[in-house]
Amino acid sequence: MINDVVIIGGGASGLCCAVYLKQKRPEISVRILEGSQRVGKKLSLTGNGRCNITNRNIQLSSFHGADKTFCETALRKYDLSFTESFFRSIGVPFVFEDNKGYPASFQAASVVDCMRFAAEELGVIVNLETKVTGIQVSKGKYKVIASNMNFLAENVVVAAGLLSGGDRLGCDASMLNLLKKSGFKTIMTTPAIVQLKTDNTVTKQLKGIKVNAEVTLMISGKPERQEYGEVLFCDYGLSGPPVLQISREVSRTGKKCAVRLDLFPDISFQEVCELIEKRKTDLYYRNFDEFFTGMIHKRIGQVILKLCGIPLNCKVKDLDGTSVKKIAAMLKEFEFEVTGTTGFSNSQVTAGGLATCGFDKNTMESLDNKGLYAVGEILDIDGDCGGFNLQWAWSSAFCAADSIIGDRL
Ligand SMILES: Cc1cc2nc3c(=O)[nH]c(=O)nc-3n(C[C@H](O)[C@H](O)[C@H](O)COP(=O)(O)OP(=O)(O)OC[C@H]3O[C@@H](n4cnc5c(N)ncnc54)[C@H](O)[C@@H]3O)c2cc1C
Repeated sequence: MINDVVIIGGGASGLCCAVYLKQKRPEISVRILEGSQRVGKKLSLTGNGRCNITNRNIQLSSFHGADKTFCETALRKYDLSFTESFFRSIGVPFVFEDNKGYPASFQAASVVDCMRFAAEELGVIVNLETKVTGIQVSKGKYKVIASNMNFLAENVVVAAGLLSGGDRLGCDASMLNLLKKSGFKTIMTTPAIVQLKTDNTVTKQLKGIKVNAEVTLMISGKPERQEYGEVLFCDYGLSGPPVLQISREVSRTGKKCAVRLDLFPDISFQEVCELIEKRKTDLYYRNFDEFFTGMIHKRIGQVILKLCGIPLNCKVKDLDGTSVKKIAAMLKEFEFEVTGTTGFSNSQVTAGGLATCGFDKNTMESLDNKGLYAVGEILDIDGDCGGFNLQWAWSSAFCAADSIIGDRL
C-alpha cells in the first residue's frame, strides 16, 4: 500500500499535521510512525503539565535561528485565531493568563487525548514503537525504513523533534543525523530554555528560595540580554523563567558568561544606599543577622552581608559608609559565574537543527526533495519560553499540510 502521507513522529507537530490533513481531506491516507510506546509524550509534560499552548503576542523577536525570518510566513498565516479554531474543533478551547495561552482544562494530557481521539476518529493510522532508521527515494515515491517494517509514501513529513527532553521522552537526534547523512545541511544543536549551572558556593546555601529580580546575562563582561521575573536558587546554580530565557545565548556563545541579579531594579544604586542608611537609622539596635528581615528574603540578606564581610553578630549602628556601598552594590549586581547548562535532557527546546535554507518557508517542503517536508523543533527555529515553541509546531504543521493537499494530492 502506498500511503499518501507518512509522518515521522507523533509529537506536537506530527499529531497536528495528521489531524488537520484528515479534517480537510478525509479520503487521503495518513500514517504516523512513532518511535515510542505512545504519542505526545513530551506534549503531555509541557508547561509543568498545564501546556502553555500558544501566546497572544507572537512576533519574530521571540524566535531564533540562523535565519529566523524563515518562520514568519507560517506564523503569520497560521496565527493565533487559526490555531484556536483548530483546537476548538477538536474539543480544546483556550484560556489566557496575561499573554500565555493554555487549554481551558489546564491539562497538557487532555490536549494529547483530544489530538489522539481526533486522529482515531478521522482514521489516521498510528504505528507505535516504530522507529524510523532510513528514508529512500524509490520510483518517485519515498520508502520509509523503520525498525520493524518499511512504508511507501507519496509524501513524508519529518516531525521527529530534537534532543530536548532527552531519552525518557523518546527525544534524540536520530532523524537529524539521518538527514545529515543524506546531504541535508544542519546547524549545530545546543540546549535552550534550560537551567544554568553556576559557581554554586552561594546558590546551594540559598537552595529552594525564589526571588524577583532583573536578570542580566553578561558575556565577556558585557550585558547581552535582560529579563525580569522569578529566579530560583538551586544546588547546581540558577533556574526560573528569566534564567531559562537567557540560557540559549549561554549555550551558543562559547565565551565567558555570568548572570547578574538586580534585586532592586526599580531604584538606582544611590537610592538603595539611601534605603540602607534609613534602615540603619530605624533599626540601629538590631544585630546584622536580622538587618534585612522583612525587606528581602532573610537568608538572601544574611548571605549578602557575609559576602560583604560583615559579621552577623555586630550591631546595625556600627555600619559604615563603605559597607553601605558594598551592600548596595551586591543588591544591584549579585553576580554568578556560569559554568554551563543542565543539558539537553532538562531543556525545553533545541536550538539549531535542519538548516532552513534547504526548505521553502511558504510550504516547509525540502527544496531538493519534492514531497519531503520538515516541521516543528527539528528545523533550525526555536522560540522563547511562553508558548512560542508549540505555536511554531502548530503553524509549521498546518503549513506543510496545506501544501501537501494544495499542491501534491
Ligand atoms: C518539559 C518540557 C516542557 C515544555 N513546555 C512547553 C510549553 O509549555 N510551551 C511551549 O510552547 N513549548 C514547550 N516545550 C517545547 C515543546 O514541547 C516542543 O517545542 C514541541 O513538543 C516540539 O514539537 P515536535 O513535534 O517538533 O517534537 P516532539 O513533540 O518532540 O515530537 C517528536 C516525536 O517524534 C518521535 N521520534 C523521534 N525520532 C523518531 C524516529 N526516528 N522515528 C519515529 N519517531 C521518532 C518522538 O518520539 C516524538 O514523539 C516543552 C518541552 C519540554 C521538554
